[in-house]
Amino acid sequence: MKRPRWIPEGTDQETPNVARVYDCYLGGSHNFAADREMARKAVELWPELPKIMRANRGFLRRAVQYLAERGFTRFLDIGSGIPTFGAVHEVARRIQPDARVVYVDIDPVAVAHSRLILEGDERAAVIEADMREPRALLADPAVADLLAAGEPVAVLLVAVLHFVRDEEDPVGIVRVLRDAMPPGSALVLSHASFEGRPDQAGPHQDLYARTPTPLTMRSREDVVRLFDGFELIEPGVVYLPEWRPERPESVGPHPERMTGLAGVGRLS
Ligand code: SAM
Repeated sequence: MKRPRWIPEGTDQETPNVARVYDCYLGGSHNFAADREMARKAVELWPELPKIMRANRGFLRRAVQYLAERGFTRFLDIGSGIPTFGAVHEVARRIQPDARVVYVDIDPVAVAHSRLILEGDERAAVIEADMREPRALLADPAVADLLAAGEPVAVLLVAVLHFVRDEEDPVGIVRVLRDAMPPGSALVLSHASFEGRPDQAGPHQDLYARTPTPLTMRSREDVVRLFDGFELIEPGVVYLPEWRPERPESVGPHPERMTGLAGVGRLS
């Protein structure tokens, strides 16, 4: 059988991969048996996971919409994943038809699939890069070009920094990105936290510890620290459904069960 174009040559299909496991949670079709097995185990352990992932996508959509409505036309989506639905360029362009987006991911499948979707789109680019080397990421011509105009850029680090270990210095990585962002830029960030469900944190982290990409769930204080140098937009760092919900009832009775913390900060 001919290899589909979203599977780059040499892709390791035997080891579960976070981008593709996330695609399983969201009901996507760009994953392999090993990814589905890992997602199955994780959901068995924690049945609310698919709901949490959808709450995360909901936050991403509302944050992009919020910034596009305030005039943002440049978006840098780091750890963008496999664009299952509601990708940043789609959301932003409903409000800003000329919005430019650069997608960045470390996973070749996520990158290949994004390239297929964006083929022929002159205002969107996809690069394969590791955010743990932020200076190299910023030096990529597509990223450098997005930042060069000096216009505000929305930098998205949505559900990705929990794949960066403490010793890899997540705060330092954000600082390097911040220092390259023009005045008025924004940071859109969500992050897995153990605070809402301390009972689930251990087993969930143990499962990811067996993959090449371990998961570090963090405290609210740690997540707030990632916004160092940014002014947090109301309502600050909150559980995913609590960030500017479209309808009050969409928050649900237990937003803490969605465990992810989210916020948007602006640079003055
Ligand atoms: N941001 C999307 C969202 O919130 O819907 C996707 C989140 S998905 C859980 C995490 C993504 O981060 C995956 O696609 C993974 O490949 C990517 N990722 C993990 N570590 C990374 C790194 N060091 N540099 C760039 N991307 C990374």
